[in-house]
This record gives sequence, C-alpha cells and structure tokens, in this order.
Amino acid sequence: MPYLTQLAKVARRTGYPVTEVSGWKSRGHGPQPEVQGVVCHHTAGPTGGGDYPSLGVVRSGRPGLDGPLSQFGLGRSGRIYVIAAGRCWHNAPSTSAYHDNSSSIGIEAENNGSQPWPDDQLDAYKKLCAELCREFGLSASRVKGHKEVNRQKPDPHGINMNDFRADVAALLRGEPAAPALSWTEKLLTDLPLLRPKDDNYDVKTARGLLLQRGYLPEAVYATGGLKSWLDRTKYDDELAGLIRGYQRIKKLDDDAIVGPLTWRALLRVS
Ligand SMILES: [Zn+2]
Repeated sequence: MPYLTQLAKVARRTGYPVTEVSGWKSRGHGPQPEVQGVVCHHTAGPTGGGDYPSLGVVRSGRPGLDGPLSQFGLGRSGRIYVIAAGRCWHNAPSTSAYHDNSSSIGIEAENNGSQPWPDDQLDAYKKLCAELCREFGLSASRVKGHKEVNRQKPDPHGINMNDFRADVAALLRGEPAAPALSWTEKLLTDLPLLRPKDDNYDVKTARGLLLQRGYLPEAVYATGGLKSWLDRTKYDDELAGLIRGYQRIKKLDDDAIVGPLTWRALLRVS
C-alpha cells in the first residue's frame, strides 16, 4: 500500500472543515504498508493556544521522536488536519497487530489530557473514524483508543471506547453500503500510466512498492541513500531498469511502462 493520498477526501466526507497541511501527501516514514485499524489519541498539548496548537509537534516530532506522529490531527472545533499520507510513529510498542505503526492510522486530537471534550470535536472524532472504517473496509471494532493497544498510555482520556465504537458502528449502519470495490481496486483505477522520464508524485508510489516487494538495487542500501531514493519523483533510467526486471519476473512485457498490469503486480492484486 503506498502513500494514502485519498485521506483529505475521506476527511471531507465527515462534513467537518479540513485543513491540508502543506506537504502532507508525501510526508511519512515511508509509505503506509497497510491499514487494518485506527488508533485514537489525545495530544497532551497545551490547555489553550487555539484550535490545534500541537500541529508543529505532530507534523515534525519532538526530541527523541521524529515526525510525523500521526496522519490526522483533530482540532477543538472539529476541524480535521491532514498531516501525513505515509507511515507515522503513533503507537509503538503495540499490543495489537492491527494497530501498530505499519498497520494503522493515527488521529491526534487536541486535548491537554484532562479538559472536557467539546461536543463538535467528539462528534467529528467519531465521524472521521467511521469514514476511515468505510474507506478501508474495517468494522468499528478496529477503532481503538491508544490506552487499549499500548499498556503505557492513558489516551484518549475520559472517553469510554466501547461507547465510542458503538457510535461509530451506528454511523456506519446509517449510511449507504460500502462500494463493492475494495480499496486497492479503487486505488488501481486512480493510478496513472507511468513512463520513463515522467516526473510526478506517483513515481514515488512505484518506488515505495518496489521497496515493499524487496526489489531494490544493492547500491541503494550500500550508500544508505534509501530515503532520498524513495523521495525521487523522476522516473530515471535506473528505475526503468528495475521496473523492467520486475516485469520480467512477473512475466509481463518488459517495456518499463507502469500500467494497470504492472501496478497490479506491484500491489499484489491477482
Ligand atoms: Zn497516544
């Protein structure tokens, strides 16, 4: 699974205002490998400071923990901040395999850890969780509080997660049934044709998928340049060679053009 560039669209389906934080579509500790769960947090930020004073920390991290810390922020007003589309450091170690950093999406809601939750913020929280469940084909049971999947954590404070999940489940029942296409199938319909010399964001998606398939040039590891390699948007000759090799392994035409069949192979959709 590559960068989750549909997250802003998903957030807008809640009806709450959405802020797309500059650079979010390519922010992350690599791509998000899969989405099996959602983890709800509170920021433990300042008591005052406006709608979402923890934005800088959630985006850029703090000493000892590099940002981004979660894909979403949630302001006191119910405004949703889309911060990252890749993997985030929001839950480690996790007691649940569905809720570790590689398997789940994190939401950091502004709250100092003791103050009451404004009604709009709580309502937006549930609606965002419901829309994420709908998008990724999850049941409400996959929505967890950080305190439920990490023994060290108290957040989100004051929220009974069983009641919270019951409200998420009700939201899911109240809406039209999820589309028949799986998320990956929908993604395939959005991915463009990539050709050598292209220069765009989806080149990074292809690089991330090659990494997930374990198909990278030795030199990238040897020079320690993995991050800069993954961040390159240019479809250069080296990448074309790798794609050709991958196409041959998958018994596809080795034309270096990443079209539907090659994307399906990279995404492991049969
Ligand atoms: Zn937390």
